[in-house]
Amino acid sequence: MKTASPDIGTLKHAQEILKNTFGYDQFRLQQEHAITQALTDKDALVIMPTGGGKSLCYQIPALVKDGACLVISPLISLMKDQVEALKQNGVSAAFLNSSISASEQRQVEEDFMAGQVKLLYVSPEKLMTRDFFNVLKSSTLNLIAVDEAHCISQWGHDFRPEYTKLKFLKEQFPETPIMALTATADKATRNDILSQLNITKAKTFLSSFDRPNLSLAVRPAQKRVEAITDWINSQPEESGIIYCLSRKSTESLAQKLQKQGIDADFYHAGMDPQVKDKVQERFTKDDLKVVCATIAFGMGIDKSNVRWVIHHNLPKNLESYYQEIGRAGRDGVASKTLLFYSYSDVMQLKQFIEEGEQKQLLEAKLQRMQQFAEATSCRRKLLLSYFGEQLEKDCGNCDICKNPPEFIDGLKLAQMALSAVARTQQKVGTRMLIDILRGSGRNDLFQLGYQNIKTYGVGKAHSYVDWQHYIGQFLNLGLLEIAFDQHNILRITDLGKKALYSEIEVKISKPETQEQRKQRLTPAQPTKKAQQTNALFERLRTLRKQIAESQGVPAYVVFSDSTLQELSTHKPTTDDELLNISGIGQRKADQYGREFIHEIVTFIKEKTLEGEKIKGATHLVTYELLKEGLTPQEIATKRNLNKVTIFSHIATLYEQGRDVDISQYITEDKLEKIITGIEEIGQTEQLRPLFDFFEEKIPYDQLRLAMAVYKRQTKTERT
Ligand code: ADP
Ligand code: ZN
Repeated sequence: MKTASPDIGTLKHAQEILKNTFGYDQFRLQQEHAITQALTDKDALVIMPTGGGKSLCYQIPALVKDGACLVISPLISLMKDQVEALKQNGVSAAFLNSSISASEQRQVEEDFMAGQVKLLYVSPEKLMTRDFFNVLKSSTLNLIAVDEAHCISQWGHDFRPEYTKLKFLKEQFPETPIMALTATADKATRNDILSQLNITKAKTFLSSFDRPNLSLAVRPAQKRVEAITDWINSQPEESGIIYCLSRKSTESLAQKLQKQGIDADFYHAGMDPQVKDKVQERFTKDDLKVVCATIAFGMGIDKSNVRWVIHHNLPKNLESYYQEIGRAGRDGVASKTLLFYSYSDVMQLKQFIEEGEQKQLLEAKLQRMQQFAEATSCRRKLLLSYFGEQLEKDCGNCDICKNPPEFIDGLKLAQMALSAVARTQQKVGTRMLIDILRGSGRNDLFQLGYQNIKTYGVGKAHSYVDWQHYIGQFLNLGLLEIAFDQHNILRITDLGKKALYSEIEVKISKPETQEQRKQRLTPAQPTKKAQQTNALFERLRTLRKQIAESQGVPAYVVFSDSTLQELSTHKPTTDDELLNISGIGQRKADQYGREFIHEIVTFIKEKTLEGEKIKGATHLVTYELLKEGLTPQEIATKRNLNKVTIFSHIATLYEQGRDVDISQYITEDKLEKIITGIEEIGQTEQLRPLFDFFEEKIPYDQLRLAMAVYKRQTKTERT
């Protein structure tokens, strides 16, 4: 008989594994529900955005229950990293696919049958072999996880024919719960997964698709290389991806960035596979900071610390856009995204859409993409509503929320531009139009006689950049259109004619002032504390990289960026404190704790001796100096502190269980005497009553030391 809910003990066990093995304090909402489902042997469909935490949904039940979990994944390149990440947490895991030799496979199978592997990752091809089927039949499965489950569906974007054969799983292993996982939420795909896996009764666990840690911004596609260079230089240590429209542009952009001294390379489907893999590997291992890529780059990347994504061109729809920006910030740490928008991209994408059944749909999707780029209210609201989710409040983390546009009446401006277009017999492009309006002395303008038309120079009061902004808006509003087949000249639309005759209103957003632009581009000065945290972060990042290299794994497998951030903010210096950091379980604390604590303490010491204040850490500097053999008096002199303060540091160190020899500073007799006093008074918080108790005859430093000894004694007696 199956029970409706796992007993309390089982859930508690799951919680313990979350904390002790993975180092996390809490489940995310749908994780707990999905895990509960698996623990009660029921099928589940888990839909979570990238970075939502799908893996734990099957990894934890796998560890709670007897037997092993089979994980089917189509992404061979990711299996190794996933298995490595599990091993780092002390979990026995292995993978089987065509990338390892037959004898290695044999070994894994033997270990698996001997019950020595808790999670086994296999490719669908491997799963279908008869030999492997026999292996499965002779082992105890506690769960079957089908990762990237949308690959089963013809509706999805990554259809894999081998996935359609997975139906046999339910037939052959009817008692074993199946968990399908995907980041694709559309209904058709969902239903397909359930029916093809034959788990139509499975419960669906759908998480919000919001990714609040990703900031959203859109900018006009002007001076892109300059803007990108500034962007990268403001965060030179962070890695990011720049998506480009064509293979050629990935190459040329990478080259331009390299010329600016940026560590960039390119990636596209037309490259030699080996070179391509190398680029991906260097990026994953933090050896390459920036990749200029076509959309071919992404599927096989598990790198959790991609800190930013830029779209050099407009994507063709919001699905692609969301998927691509989704590669940033999988570790939940704040990450930035930027989209460059130009009207000409829209026109080019329109031309790519071929005649056929889907034409209307594709055009409508492109239009939604364009609306997003032109939005004048919270972009995230718009984005999520496209995916059927309603956000109640404005997000506060998009460019519109941060800098709401101001609107102005643009009718006069529109009329200036439109009439100039009319008077040149609709023969000019944007540049010439602006030059006419601003009264430029350009040679060809004079040759064409445009200095004689009535609108020559009427727009002098506005800068060239402002006019670009206005004309962009007129295009967006549909007053003008670009004839791409005729050297991009501007033409007046029917709506434009109405504007010319003042029959409609024209509301446009105000262009940014120089001042606003400067403000937007210069990041706020970090506080002293933030600077310290950043400096420590960089040192821990370097340490992480050394460790990762020595083990041949990507850096984020050792510790995620969010774990590094917590380490640099909280600066743990004891094992207990270390285990309180999110992402550090017992195994990682054992393996890396010492090195990281050492780095943190060294940092604190250096900074403190340089005269900076670091909260809550001053006693550690004393500790370091004691270890170097200095006496309390010498330390007091060196640090320019009171000797009593140094003794109070020593007391704190002793209380924390650190290795200090307190008998050097207080005699046995004295200690005993004071402890009698403490017991008499019955409190260990304040020294003053104790001081009074001994009629002010015992100095404070001695009282403080005795108090520490008493506290440490009673603490050990309690535990
Ligand atoms: P997905 O497969 O859904 O893209 P992952 O399983 O790779 O996401 O998880 C994304 C990140 O979130 C990983 O770094 C993971 O360790 C972390 N994570 C998962 N669950 C939790 C949790 N409950 N608390 C904190 N971090 C979590
Ligand atoms: Zn917003």
